[in-house]
Parts: sequence; structure tokens; C-alpha cells
Amino acid sequence: MKLEINNKYSNQLPADPDETVGTRQVTNTAFSYVRPTVPSNPQLIHFSKETVALIGISETEAASPEFTNVFSGKELIEGTRPYAMSYAGHQFGNWAGQLGDGRAIVLTEITTNNTNYTLQLKGAGPTPYSRRADGMAVLRSSIREHLCSEAMFHLNVPTTRSLSLMLTGDQVLRDVMYDGHAEYEKGAVVCRVAPSFIRFGNFELFASQNDLPNLKKLADFTIENYYPQIKGDDKSRYVALFEAVANATRQMIVHWQRVGFVHGVMNTDNMSILGLTIDYGPYGWLEDYNPDWTPNTTDRENRRYRFGNQPQIALWNLYQLANAMYPLIDEAAPLEAILQSYQDKYEADYNAMMNDKLGLTSSKNNNEDLIGLLSQNLLLHETDMTIFFRNLGKVAQNDSEEMAFDKISESFYNLEKISTETKEIWLYWFTQYLLKVRENKISDIERANKMNKVNPKYVLRNYMAQLAIDSAEKGDYSLLYELHELLKNPYDDQLSSEKWFAKRPDWARQKIGSSMLSCSS
Ligand code: AMP
Ligand code: MG
Ligand code: MG
Repeated sequence: MKLEINNKYSNQLPADPDETVGTRQVTNTAFSYVRPTVPSNPQLIHFSKETVALIGISETEAASPEFTNVFSGKELIEGTRPYAMSYAGHQFGNWAGQLGDGRAIVLTEITTNNTNYTLQLKGAGPTPYSRRADGMAVLRSSIREHLCSEAMFHLNVPTTRSLSLMLTGDQVLRDVMYDGHAEYEKGAVVCRVAPSFIRFGNFELFASQNDLPNLKKLADFTIENYYPQIKGDDKSRYVALFEAVANATRQMIVHWQRVGFVHGVMNTDNMSILGLTIDYGPYGWLEDYNPDWTPNTTDRENRRYRFGNQPQIALWNLYQLANAMYPLIDEAAPLEAILQSYQDKYEADYNAMMNDKLGLTSSKNNNEDLIGLLSQNLLLHETDMTIFFRNLGKVAQNDSEEMAFDKISESFYNLEKISTETKEIWLYWFTQYLLKVRENKISDIERANKMNKVNPKYVLRNYMAQLAIDSAEKGDYSLLYELHELLKNPYDDQLSSEKWFAKRPDWARQKIGSSMLSCSS
């Protein structure tokens, strides 16, 4: 394996002088050197061919023992010095102080095809930022991260990638019951890949320490490497950086809303400075369209991170980033202007995205009424979001309202229970929709093709990930491999996989409803 190591972050930003693992508060520190814990019996479960290619490794190399050793943390890549990044953050709306990579360890930073990539193990043992936790990850959460990050990439959603999934051969203690009975699970390690793992929280850490020199270093580093289009050397460059991050963040959220992804823990330490989806923990996918839904069991009361609130939370997080960057700019007005324009820009982007989902080119009024009514209608009777939009692409210009309704009716849960009144409301909506479709003057096939590029047929439904986990726990990875393959082409009809284009089965509603998806598994 030959990687072109650059270590830009660790060369240019300040290292922790203390090289022990012990939990501590740091200052003047962007990262701490730390060695991954050596796993007792690492075993490769799966690697992503696409991500392997992305970082310039061949498939033969990926199948070698060296690959397993390196990406499980057993062996270091020659000439590298792993580290954990330090950052702070707001968790569930409250300032949480210093956090940092508690179970993530950067192996190295490389260059391929003129792009920087950081290779980061997740679950490779304690770091100075582990606080009271163990730095480990279990198989179930690692499968969820590995499958979902690759699925998101193929859905065209900006995301960190997952290179590999390994068993460590070690047991990890997860739940200790009230009677002292302990529950062990299989330990696993994922290697994540991204141009950078810098988060809003990295800026918040230096800002909270009034460490202006390092705040500036971090901002300059981010601009130089990731937003090189930003020029100039006065304060306006930091305003431009903030604006670029706001834009990237907003666009990421529009994609989440398009595909029905709920992140579940949008704390500022989980917000990428590059607008990538990062940290796949208690995430979930909307099955029935429900803006109030959150998969995170620790957020069931306030539902802060519910589907419909994601755009507002992104804005709230951008306010925290603006506060952190303010000392570099010393003037609130330009930051406020960017924050104030977020709502309008989001609405315009959201509207354009919904028009794409509907197969319409936005007209003078942007079809706002039609889209507004649709959002209300989807709440009338439990409706599967993915199936609804996918089947909407089958509606033809010359269909009657009744025919159009029939085409989407597969998306209703308990179709037999749909009320006459609800059906009437839908038929009324189709009257409006069909008018727009006819105005549009593109052929049915052309429209369907366009819609099928933004309305996925296959997403990683919560029960699908759970089935893959259940078999993997028993040592059978065939479903994990199958889903990984399926989700490479989420917009294509894959006739042998029709069973995954189906509503959540009844048993899954119960099971997922009660299964624990919390932050730190
Ligand atoms: P999260 O909510 O997953 O973003 O994690 C919040 C913080 O807790 C971060 O600093 C994580 O690194 C840390 N953390 C989560 N799980 C663990 C773990 N098992 N061991 C050590 N630190 C963890
Ligand atoms: Mg996190
Ligand atoms: Mg996490």
C-alpha cells in the first residue's frame, strides 16, 4: 500500500505537548497524538470498493492482511503518527465545553488526485477526549455507519465516506443492567474518509478559550485547503468563509429533506465545516412522512432534532459558528446579514428541490401552494415518503385524478382504512398537480426520468439495517453485502430487489419503535 502522506493539519496546527492517553482539558491544542488500541484478532468484514479506489488503493491491496492490520489499528502506516482532534460544542442546545475525538483517531492525511483525504478510525480505543467512555464501537453501530455513509454518497448527499468495516476480536461492554448484569457486544472499527473532519466545534473550542491566534490559524487552514476560491488577506476573507460554510450546510440539509434522512444528533460538534453529513449515530430514515419524527431515543421529549426541525437547527448551529468566528471579524453586521438571508435562501432551495421531486419546472409562483398542500396531505393518512415520490413519477399527463391516485396508493399504510374524505382531498390535489404537469410540456418519459434521479427507489430503511445487523451478529454478512450493493444504485430499478421497495413491515414498526438508538453506541 503506497499512500502519499501530507499531514497538513497535524503539521500546521498546534499539537498537545502531553502525549499520554489520560483524559484532560487542553489549551493551545488542535489535536493530541494517540496510538490506536491494538485489536486482539482483527477481521475484515467488508471494504467499499469505491472508497478504496478514491484513496488510491487497489482491490488486491484491500484484500491483503496489511489492509486489515492498518485499518483495524493493529499496525501503523510507515511514517505516520495518529492523533485525535480536539473540539468543543453545543449539545442539545447547551454549551458542553471541550469534547474532542473520544473514539475517533486520525491515522494519517493523504493526497490523491490533488485532493486531501483524512483517514480516521472510529472505535479504535481511548483518547484524551474519551472522558468516561471507552473509545470503542460495537458491531451494530459500525454496520450502521458503514452502510449509511456509502448509501448517502450514492444518493448524491454530501457525506463522509466509509472505507472499511472490521471486527476487532474484542468484546465491548455496553449496557450494565440495574442488577449489575453486563451485556457484551462484538467490538468493531470503521475507517472513515473525508477531505477533512474539521467541525463547527473546532472553531468553538478556540473561541471559548479566547485563543485568537489559533482560531485564526484554523480559519486560514480551512480556507487555504478547502475553500481556496476565497482570496484576499483582510477580515472579509473570514466573512466569505462563514458564508461558504452557511451555503454548504444549507445545501446538505436540503438533500436530507429530499431523501428523508434524519441525522438525530445535530450538535455543533457533529457539523462539518465542509457541509458533509458526519457522525452516523442514532440516525434514521422517514418511512411514513412525519416531520415530527426523530430516531433518537434520548431526544424523544423535546424532539429537537426531528425531521422537520433540521433546517432550523442548522441555522441555530450556524449562529454558534458565527459567534465563534466573530473575534476574527470584529463586526457583527456581515455575519448577521448572512444568517438573516439563510431563511429565504433555504426556502428557495427547498422549493426548487420539491419542484424537482414533483417533476415540475418552477413556474412564476414556484408552485408554492401545490407543495404546501402536498405537505399537509402527506399527514392525512400514514404515507410512505419514498414510495409516494417514486410512484408519482409514473403519473401520466393524460391520467385522470383517479388513475393518478391509484398509482401512488401503494404508498399508503393500511390502504383499506383510508377515508373517503382523505381520498377526496388527494383527488383535489391531483387536479392541481395534473394541470401543472400538462403545462410543463415535457413528455411523460422525460419527466419520469428526471424525477427518478431525485426520488430514490431504495433507501436504508431502519428495519433493513437492523436485519443486516441481526445476521451479522450471528456471523452471516450476506445481507450486509447485499444492501451495500443495492444502495450503490438507489435511483435505478433493480428488479431482483423489489422486496426492498416496500413499506416497512408491521413487525418492524414495533421493533424499531422500541429499539434503542442513542448517541454513543
Ligand atoms: P456523539 O454524540 O456521538 O457525537 O459524541 C459526543 C462526544 O462523545 C464526542 O466527543 C465523542 O467522541 C464522544 N463519544 C461518544 N461515544 C464514545 C465512546 N464510546 N468512547 C469515547 N468517547 C465517545
Ligand atoms: Mg460526534
Ligand atoms: Mg457519535
